[in-house]
Amino acid sequence: MSNQITVTNPATGEVLAQIPADSADTVNAKLKAGHEAFKKFSKTTAYERAALLEKWAELILANKQELAEIMTKENGKPLPESLGEAAYTASYLTWYAEEAKRLYGRTIPAATSSKRLLVTQQGIGLVAAITPWNFPAAMMTRKAGPALAAGCTFIVKPAEDTPLTMIRLVELAHEAGIPKDVVQIVNGKGSEIGPLFTGSDYVRKITFTGSTPVGKLLIQQSAETVKGVSMELGGHAPFIICEDADIDYAVTQALASKFRNAGQTCVCANRFLVHESVVAEFSEKFAKAAAALKVGNGMDAGVEVGPVINKKGFDKIVEQIEDAKAKGATVLAGGTTNHDVEKGYFFINPTVLGNVTHDMNIMQEETFGPVAPIVSFKTYEEAVEIANNTPFGLAAYFFTDNYKRGIFFQENLDFGILGWNDGLPSTAQAPFGGMKESGIGSEGGIEGIQPYLETKYLSIGNI
Ligand code: NAP
Repeated sequence: MSNQITVTNPATGEVLAQIPADSADTVNAKLKAGHEAFKKFSKTTAYERAALLEKWAELILANKQELAEIMTKENGKPLPESLGEAAYTASYLTWYAEEAKRLYGRTIPAATSSKRLLVTQQGIGLVAAITPWNFPAAMMTRKAGPALAAGCTFIVKPAEDTPLTMIRLVELAHEAGIPKDVVQIVNGKGSEIGPLFTGSDYVRKITFTGSTPVGKLLIQQSAETVKGVSMELGGHAPFIICEDADIDYAVTQALASKFRNAGQTCVCANRFLVHESVVAEFSEKFAKAAAALKVGNGMDAGVEVGPVINKKGFDKIVEQIEDAKAKGATVLAGGTTNHDVEKGYFFINPTVLGNVTHDMNIMQEETFGPVAPIVSFKTYEEAVEIANNTPFGLAAYFFTDNYKRGIFFQENLDFGILGWNDGLPSTAQAPFGGMKESGIGSEGGIEGIQPYLETKYLSIGNI
């Protein structure tokens, strides 16, 4: 296994740190320790676990400036977004601290008077998580919050691009009093650590946020030991604007949905579908607003769009822009870059494309970058057909003040997360998860704790 991870700042190319990667032996020893720790931790009361989660959240908020600066330096997102992520990260812990106390069982009326039937729920065991770089902190607590609330122990492998945030987050967990073997971190390549997680008898659950191809691989590998899997995978979100929509409001939501985190969120609007009667007005206003966004180093005041994470991501986005242009798209904003492959910094100016057609790669693939393709539609049935024509089913947005149209979209869009006049629907209280190849299971809300629980049925006889 490779033994060193170099962490760089995608806004400057500066090397931030060299950290050691864990050897296979170390990973296996930590898995064993996590399994052993479960025996004791699973016997704690929900109130004890809730207090630990609350304390951890409190420390995250008390240290949010430090955490946010680490995030901005290794991920590139603007500092206000990183501060927002710190609060969002803590919110999953406080939500699940409460939920820990509501893991009710039930009694079932028996068909025989001499029997009593009880159902209880208990933590599944050691949970192994693999997280992405785009939300280096929040994707961890969205998993660890419910897992710990359920009485599970937890081990996480962060993305190699952003391990520093996770290292600090895990330190804060230990400072909060969570035992060291209850929340652990391992660092290294996903392709090397993934099989150690999936192949281990100590791990009872794999939870993953990342790309669909890696998700499929982890599902296959987990079949060997029949592990439970939760998968938060890729998206290709449609953003539908109807003729009656408040266009100025839709533009503000489109900006937030598309350009937050430089377009690198799995729920980012990826295809703008606009009614033909308002497409000219929306395109003009949206392009003007996108062109006015300030691009730069996320540590600088006023910056709204940072760099994309690395060369691989940068190349894919530029290839989509070039493919669209070659097939006849018009650049309404951006379309330019500021990068230095040698130094390692990667800026793409917020880009809006008009005259987009369905044969362009950008209409078929997830972009994960600050590029917005606009296509027009004539009927709402056509909009739904275009929207659903993808193997992905994570998030979809629609803008209308007509309640019949809104309900039509709610009932016909094949996506797990819907925003009706809302470009930012994600919150700790609500389930977040995809349909089709966007994933298995939900995180957040009352649904988010179920994947970490086993159901146990007890039949008492001879009463
Ligand atoms: P990725 O390549 O799947 O990486 C995500 C994580 O998986 C990283 O920790 C990575 O480790 C690890 N990994 C890579 N190859 C692996 C393997 N063979 N076995 C086990 N683990 C492996 O995804 P990405 O390109 O970095 O992230 C962007 C993707 O994540 C997008 O498709 C996006 O939609 C998705 N995403 C989904 C959600 C959601 O909630 N649905 C949220 C955020 C992102 P290394 O760093 O070592 O490669």
